[in-house]
Amino acid sequence: MKQTSRSHSRLWLFLLSAALSLCLFAQAQTPKAIEDALNEAYNKFRNLKEGKNADYIKELANVDPEIFGIALITTDGKVYTKGDVTSMVSIQSVSKVFTMAKVIEEQGAQAVQDKIGVDATGMRFNSIVAVELQKGKEINPLVNPGAIASSSLISGADSAAKWRNILQVHSDFAARPLTVNGPVYISEAGDNLRNQAIAHLLLAYGRMYFDPVQATDIYTKQCAINVSAKDLATMAATLANGGVNPVSKKKIVSPETVMHTLAVMSTAGLYDNSGIWLYHTGLPAKSGVGGGLLAVCPGKFGIAVVSPPLDAAGNSVKAQKAISYVIDKLKANPYLVQPK
Ligand code: GLN
Repeated sequence: MKQTSRSHSRLWLFLLSAALSLCLFAQAQTPKAIEDALNEAYNKFRNLKEGKNADYIKELANVDPEIFGIALITTDGKVYTKGDVTSMVSIQSVSKVFTMAKVIEEQGAQAVQDKIGVDATGMRFNSIVAVELQKGKEINPLVNPGAIASSSLISGADSAAKWRNILQVHSDFAARPLTVNGPVYISEAGDNLRNQAIAHLLLAYGRMYFDPVQATDIYTKQCAINVSAKDLATMAATLANGGVNPVSKKKIVSPETVMHTLAVMSTAGLYDNSGIWLYHTGLPAKSGVGGGLLAVCPGKFGIAVVSPPLDAAGNSVKAQKAISYVIDKLKANPYLVQPK
Protein backbone atom coordinates (compact mmCIF):
# COMPACT_ATOMS: atom_id res chain seq x y z
CA MET A 1 0.00 0.00 0.00
CA LYS A 2 2.80 2.34 1.08
CA GLN A 3 4.65 1.27 -2.03
CA THR A 4 1.71 2.29 -4.31
CA SER A 5 1.21 5.70 -2.74
CA ARG A 6 4.96 6.36 -3.03
CA SER A 7 4.95 5.45 -6.73
CA HIS A 8 1.81 7.56 -7.16
CA SER A 9 3.47 10.59 -5.68
CA ARG A 10 6.54 9.91 -7.82
CA LEU A 11 4.28 9.82 -10.88
CA TRP A 12 2.67 13.11 -9.87
CA LEU A 13 6.04 14.68 -9.33
CA PHE A 14 7.14 13.51 -12.74
CA LEU A 15 3.97 14.81 -14.44
CA LEU A 16 4.29 18.12 -12.65
CA SER A 17 7.89 18.65 -13.71
CA ALA A 18 7.08 17.59 -17.30
CA ALA A 19 4.19 20.10 -17.41
CA LEU A 20 6.44 22.77 -15.92
CA SER A 21 9.17 22.26 -18.48
CA LEU A 22 6.58 22.23 -21.29
CA CYS A 23 5.28 25.53 -19.93
CA LEU A 24 8.79 26.93 -19.79
CA PHE A 25 9.24 25.93 -23.40
CA ALA A 26 5.95 27.49 -24.46
CA GLN A 27 6.74 30.62 -22.46
CA ALA A 28 10.07 30.92 -24.22
CA GLN A 29 8.28 32.14 -27.37
CA THR A 30 5.55 34.51 -26.17
CA PRO A 31 5.37 37.95 -27.84
CA LYS A 32 6.95 39.50 -24.74
CA ALA A 33 9.76 36.92 -24.74
CA ILE A 34 10.44 37.61 -28.43
CA GLU A 35 10.52 41.38 -27.89
CA ASP A 36 12.83 40.99 -24.90
CA ALA A 37 15.18 38.67 -26.78
CA LEU A 38 15.44 41.10 -29.72
CA ASN A 39 16.03 44.09 -27.42
CA GLU A 40 18.66 42.26 -25.40
CA ALA A 41 20.49 40.99 -28.50
CA TYR A 42 20.48 44.48 -30.00
CA ASN A 43 21.81 46.17 -26.86
CA LYS A 44 24.38 43.48 -26.21
CA PHE A 45 25.98 43.65 -29.66
CA ARG A 46 25.30 47.15 -30.99
CA ASN A 47 28.71 48.49 -29.95
CA LEU A 48 30.71 45.48 -31.06
CA LYS A 49 33.52 46.58 -33.36
CA GLU A 50 34.74 43.22 -34.72
CA GLY A 51 34.84 42.41 -38.43
CA LYS A 52 35.19 44.43 -41.60
CA ASN A 53 33.01 45.19 -44.63
CA ALA A 54 33.75 43.07 -47.70
CA ASP A 55 35.96 45.04 -50.08
CA TYR A 56 36.74 42.58 -52.88
CA ILE A 57 33.56 44.04 -54.42
CA LYS A 58 34.64 47.70 -54.22
CA GLU A 59 31.21 49.19 -53.67
CA LEU A 60 30.60 47.06 -50.56
CA ALA A 61 33.45 48.82 -48.74
CA ASN A 62 31.39 52.05 -48.95
CA VAL A 63 28.33 50.68 -47.14
CA ASP A 64 27.71 52.13 -43.66
CA PRO A 65 29.19 49.57 -41.24
CA GLU A 66 26.93 50.87 -38.46
CA ILE A 67 23.72 49.55 -40.03
CA PHE A 68 22.37 47.05 -37.51
CA GLY A 69 18.82 45.74 -37.41
CA ILE A 70 17.06 42.56 -36.30
CA ALA A 71 13.68 41.40 -37.65
CA LEU A 72 11.70 38.31 -36.69
CA ILE A 73 8.48 37.32 -38.48
CA THR A 74 6.35 34.45 -37.27
CA THR A 75 4.55 31.98 -39.52
CA ASP A 76 1.28 33.70 -38.61
CA GLY A 77 2.64 36.99 -39.91
CA LYS A 78 3.53 38.85 -36.68
CA VAL A 79 6.44 41.21 -37.20
CA TYR A 80 9.00 42.03 -34.46
CA THR A 81 11.83 44.46 -35.14
CA LYS A 82 14.66 46.21 -33.36
CA GLY A 83 17.16 48.72 -34.73
CA ASP A 84 17.59 49.66 -38.37
CA VAL A 85 15.46 47.20 -40.30
CA THR A 86 14.81 49.45 -43.31
CA SER A 87 18.31 50.37 -44.58
CA MET A 88 19.11 48.37 -47.69
CA VAL A 89 22.16 46.29 -48.44
CA SER A 90 22.80 44.05 -51.43
CA ILE A 91 21.51 40.54 -50.80
CA GLN A 92 24.64 38.83 -52.20
CA SER A 93 24.83 35.12 -51.39
CA VAL A 94 21.54 35.05 -49.50
CA SER A 95 19.95 35.20 -52.97
CA LYS A 96 21.34 31.75 -53.75
CA VAL A 97 18.63 30.25 -51.52
CA PHE A 98 15.74 31.66 -53.52
CA THR A 99 17.11 30.87 -56.95
CA MET A 100 17.84 27.35 -55.71
CA ALA A 101 14.27 27.03 -54.39
CA LYS A 102 12.87 28.17 -57.74
CA VAL A 103 15.05 25.72 -59.68
CA ILE A 104 13.99 22.86 -57.36
CA GLU A 105 10.38 23.92 -57.87
CA GLU A 106 10.77 23.97 -61.66
CA GLN A 107 13.05 20.99 -62.23
CA GLY A 108 12.46 18.78 -59.20
CA ALA A 109 14.76 17.87 -56.32
CA GLN A 110 16.42 14.97 -58.14
CA ALA A 111 17.42 17.12 -61.13
CA VAL A 112 19.14 19.63 -58.85
CA GLN A 113 20.97 16.82 -57.08
CA ASP A 114 22.07 15.30 -60.41
CA LYS A 115 22.86 18.46 -62.39
CA ILE A 116 24.37 20.68 -59.67
CA GLY A 117 24.91 18.63 -56.52
CA VAL A 118 23.74 19.12 -52.94
CA ASP A 119 26.78 18.24 -50.84
CA ALA A 120 28.80 20.74 -48.86
CA THR A 121 32.23 21.48 -50.33
CA GLY A 122 33.70 22.50 -46.97
CA MET A 123 35.62 25.17 -48.87
CA ARG A 124 35.30 28.90 -49.43
CA PHE A 125 32.24 30.09 -51.35
CA ASN A 126 34.24 30.96 -54.47
CA SER A 127 36.69 28.07 -54.39
CA ILE A 128 37.87 26.94 -57.82
CA VAL A 129 39.70 23.98 -56.30
CA ALA A 130 36.34 22.65 -55.03
CA VAL A 131 35.09 22.48 -58.64
CA GLU A 132 38.32 21.02 -59.95
CA LEU A 133 38.60 18.32 -57.29
CA GLN A 134 35.11 17.02 -58.02
CA LYS A 135 35.19 17.62 -61.78
CA GLY A 136 32.22 19.94 -61.41
CA LYS A 137 30.16 17.48 -59.37
CA GLU A 138 29.26 17.46 -55.69
CA ILE A 139 29.03 21.19 -55.37
CA ASN A 140 25.80 22.80 -54.15
CA PRO A 141 23.61 25.78 -55.09
CA LEU A 142 24.75 27.81 -52.07
CA VAL A 143 28.37 28.25 -53.18
CA ASN A 144 29.27 30.28 -56.25
CA PRO A 145 29.73 27.40 -58.74
CA GLY A 146 26.37 25.83 -57.84
CA ALA A 147 24.69 29.23 -57.71
CA ILE A 148 25.90 30.18 -61.19
CA ALA A 149 24.79 26.74 -62.40
CA SER A 150 21.37 27.47 -60.83
CA SER A 151 21.13 30.78 -62.72
CA SER A 152 21.95 28.84 -65.88
CA LEU A 153 19.22 26.28 -65.13
CA ILE A 154 16.38 28.62 -64.17
CA SER A 155 13.61 28.66 -66.76
CA GLY A 156 13.48 31.45 -69.35
CA ALA A 157 14.11 31.43 -73.09
CA ASP A 158 16.88 34.02 -72.89
CA SER A 159 18.93 35.89 -70.37
CA ALA A 160 16.29 38.63 -69.88
CA ALA A 161 13.56 36.07 -69.21
CA LYS A 162 15.74 34.15 -66.76
CA TRP A 163 16.51 37.40 -64.93
CA ARG A 164 12.82 38.35 -64.74
CA ASN A 165 12.08 34.93 -63.27
CA ILE A 166 14.78 35.37 -60.61
CA LEU A 167 13.73 38.91 -59.65
CA GLN A 168 10.10 37.79 -59.44
CA VAL A 169 10.78 34.90 -57.09
CA HIS A 170 12.87 37.13 -54.81
CA SER A 171 10.08 39.72 -54.75
CA ASP A 172 7.51 37.01 -54.03
CA PHE A 173 9.51 35.76 -51.07
CA ALA A 174 9.88 39.33 -49.77
CA ALA A 175 6.19 40.24 -50.36
CA ARG A 176 7.16 43.42 -52.24
CA PRO A 177 8.81 44.32 -55.55
CA LEU A 178 12.58 44.32 -55.03
CA THR A 179 15.07 46.28 -57.14
CA VAL A 180 18.75 46.08 -58.03
CA ASN A 181 21.45 48.23 -56.43
CA GLY A 182 22.96 49.66 -59.63
CA PRO A 183 26.38 50.70 -58.28
CA VAL A 184 26.92 47.31 -56.57
CA TYR A 185 25.97 45.46 -59.76
CA ILE A 186 28.26 47.60 -61.94
CA SER A 187 31.09 47.33 -59.44
CA GLU A 188 30.93 43.52 -59.30
CA ALA A 189 30.15 42.98 -62.98
CA GLY A 190 33.35 44.82 -63.91
CA ASP A 191 35.39 42.66 -61.59
CA ASN A 192 33.95 39.14 -61.59
CA LEU A 193 36.60 37.28 -63.56
CA ARG A 194 36.87 34.66 -60.88
CA ASN A 195 33.17 33.81 -61.12
CA GLN A 196 33.45 33.78 -64.90
CA ALA A 197 36.35 31.34 -64.59
CA ILE A 198 34.19 29.13 -62.36
CA ALA A 199 31.36 29.22 -64.92
CA HIS A 200 33.74 28.28 -67.74
CA LEU A 201 35.28 25.46 -65.71
CA LEU A 202 31.78 24.09 -65.09
CA LEU A 203 31.09 24.34 -68.82
CA ALA A 204 34.24 22.32 -69.47
CA TYR A 205 32.87 19.60 -67.19
CA GLY A 206 29.42 19.70 -68.83
CA ARG A 207 27.82 21.22 -65.72
CA MET A 208 26.81 24.67 -67.08
CA TYR A 209 23.38 24.83 -68.75
CA PHE A 210 23.41 28.23 -70.47
CA ASP A 211 25.97 30.61 -71.87
CA PRO A 212 28.56 30.95 -69.03
CA VAL A 213 29.13 34.69 -69.48
CA GLN A 214 25.40 35.44 -69.42
CA ALA A 215 24.74 33.03 -66.53
CA THR A 216 27.46 34.77 -64.49
CA ASP A 217 25.95 38.14 -65.34
CA ILE A 218 22.47 37.05 -64.20
CA TYR A 219 24.01 35.70 -61.00
CA THR A 220 25.90 38.97 -60.40
CA LYS A 221 22.72 41.00 -60.86
CA GLN A 222 20.85 38.67 -58.51
CA CYS A 223 23.52 39.25 -55.83
CA ALA A 224 22.97 43.04 -56.19
CA ILE A 225 19.25 42.94 -55.29
CA ASN A 226 18.66 45.39 -52.44
CA VAL A 227 17.07 44.12 -49.22
CA SER A 228 16.49 45.29 -45.66
CA ALA A 229 16.55 43.14 -42.52
CA LYS A 230 12.75 43.14 -42.69
CA ASP A 231 12.79 41.86 -46.28
CA LEU A 232 15.18 39.07 -45.33
CA ALA A 233 13.03 38.11 -42.34
CA THR A 234 9.93 37.95 -44.58
CA MET A 235 11.83 35.71 -46.98
CA ALA A 236 12.97 33.49 -44.10
CA ALA A 237 9.44 33.40 -42.65
CA THR A 238 8.12 32.15 -46.02
CA LEU A 239 10.56 29.25 -45.79
CA ALA A 240 9.54 28.70 -42.14
CA ASN A 241 5.92 28.55 -43.32
CA GLY A 242 6.34 25.79 -45.93
CA GLY A 243 6.58 28.15 -48.92
CA VAL A 244 3.49 30.30 -48.25
CA ASN A 245 4.41 33.91 -47.53
CA PRO A 246 2.87 34.76 -44.12
CA VAL A 247 2.74 38.46 -45.05
CA SER A 248 1.25 38.33 -48.58
CA LYS A 249 -0.43 34.92 -47.93
CA LYS A 250 0.71 33.92 -51.42
CA LYS A 251 2.03 30.42 -52.15
CA ILE A 252 5.55 30.83 -53.55
CA VAL A 253 6.94 27.27 -53.59
CA SER A 254 5.81 23.87 -52.32
CA PRO A 255 6.53 22.49 -48.83
CA GLU A 256 8.68 19.78 -50.47
CA THR A 257 10.82 22.40 -52.22
CA VAL A 258 11.30 24.17 -48.89
CA MET A 259 12.23 20.90 -47.21
CA HIS A 260 15.09 20.31 -49.67
CA THR A 261 16.15 23.96 -49.64
CA LEU A 262 16.45 24.00 -45.84
CA ALA A 263 18.57 20.86 -45.94
CA VAL A 264 21.18 22.50 -48.16
CA MET A 265 21.06 25.65 -46.01
CA SER A 266 21.83 23.49 -42.96
CA THR A 267 24.95 21.96 -44.48
CA ALA A 268 26.25 24.89 -46.54
CA GLY A 269 24.51 28.14 -45.55
CA LEU A 270 27.49 29.74 -43.82
CA TYR A 271 30.18 28.51 -46.21
CA ASP A 272 33.07 26.77 -44.50
CA ASN A 273 31.67 27.70 -41.07
CA SER A 274 28.31 25.98 -41.63
CA GLY A 275 29.11 23.20 -39.16
CA ILE A 276 29.99 25.62 -36.37
CA TRP A 277 26.77 27.56 -36.99
CA LEU A 278 24.61 24.43 -36.91
CA TYR A 279 26.40 23.18 -33.81
CA HIS A 280 25.28 26.27 -31.92
CA THR A 281 21.86 27.09 -33.38
CA GLY A 282 20.54 23.94 -35.07
CA LEU A 283 18.88 26.17 -37.69
CA PRO A 284 19.20 26.33 -41.47
CA ALA A 285 20.54 29.76 -42.38
CA LYS A 286 22.21 31.74 -45.14
CA SER A 287 24.68 34.60 -45.11
CA GLY A 288 25.87 37.08 -47.73
CA VAL A 289 28.92 39.33 -47.99
CA GLY A 290 26.59 42.36 -48.03
CA GLY A 291 26.13 41.72 -44.28
CA GLY A 292 22.74 39.99 -44.32
CA LEU A 293 22.07 36.74 -42.50
CA LEU A 294 18.76 34.91 -42.21
CA ALA A 295 17.78 31.81 -40.27
CA VAL A 296 14.68 29.65 -40.44
CA CYS A 297 12.93 28.03 -37.49
CA PRO A 298 10.62 25.63 -39.38
CA GLY A 299 6.95 26.02 -38.52
CA LYS A 300 7.67 28.95 -36.20
CA PHE A 301 9.50 31.99 -37.57
CA GLY A 302 12.12 33.51 -39.82
CA ILE A 303 14.74 35.83 -38.37
CA ALA A 304 17.25 38.12 -40.09
CA VAL A 305 19.94 40.60 -39.21
CA VAL A 306 21.77 43.12 -41.37
CA SER A 307 25.21 44.32 -40.24
CA PRO A 308 27.96 44.68 -42.87
CA PRO A 309 31.24 43.91 -41.00
CA LEU A 310 32.25 40.29 -41.71
CA ASP A 311 34.51 37.66 -40.18
CA ALA A 312 37.23 35.79 -42.09
CA ALA A 313 34.75 33.28 -43.59
CA GLY A 314 32.60 36.13 -44.97
CA ASN A 315 29.77 35.99 -42.43
CA SER A 316 28.42 39.05 -40.60
CA VAL A 317 29.87 39.10 -37.09
CA LYS A 318 27.00 40.89 -35.34
CA ALA A 319 24.36 38.95 -37.26
CA GLN A 320 25.76 35.60 -36.17
CA LYS A 321 25.96 36.72 -32.56
CA ALA A 322 22.56 38.41 -32.44
CA ILE A 323 20.67 35.55 -34.11
CA SER A 324 22.42 32.93 -31.96
CA TYR A 325 21.49 34.92 -28.86
CA VAL A 326 17.81 35.11 -29.85
CA ILE A 327 17.63 31.41 -30.77
CA ASP A 328 19.15 30.52 -27.44
CA LYS A 329 16.80 32.79 -25.49
CA LEU A 330 13.71 31.49 -27.31
CA LYS A 331 14.88 27.88 -26.99
CA ALA A 332 14.29 27.64 -30.73
CA ASN A 333 16.98 25.12 -31.60
CA PRO A 334 14.92 22.15 -32.92
CA TYR A 335 17.49 19.71 -31.54
CA LEU A 336 16.75 20.93 -28.01
CA VAL A 337 14.06 18.53 -26.79
CA GLN A 338 12.50 18.11 -23.37
CA PRO A 339 12.58 14.39 -22.48
CA LYS A 340 9.14 12.79 -22.01
N1 GLN B 1 28.39 38.22 -55.38
C1 GLN B 1 29.29 37.62 -54.43
C2 GLN B 1 30.34 36.79 -55.12
O1 GLN B 1 30.05 36.10 -56.02
C3 GLN B 1 28.52 36.83 -53.42
C4 GLN B 1 29.41 36.18 -52.40
C5 GLN B 1 28.84 36.00 -51.04
O2 GLN B 1 27.94 36.69 -50.59
N2 GLN B 1 29.47 35.11 -50.32
O3 GLN B 1 31.48 36.81 -54.78
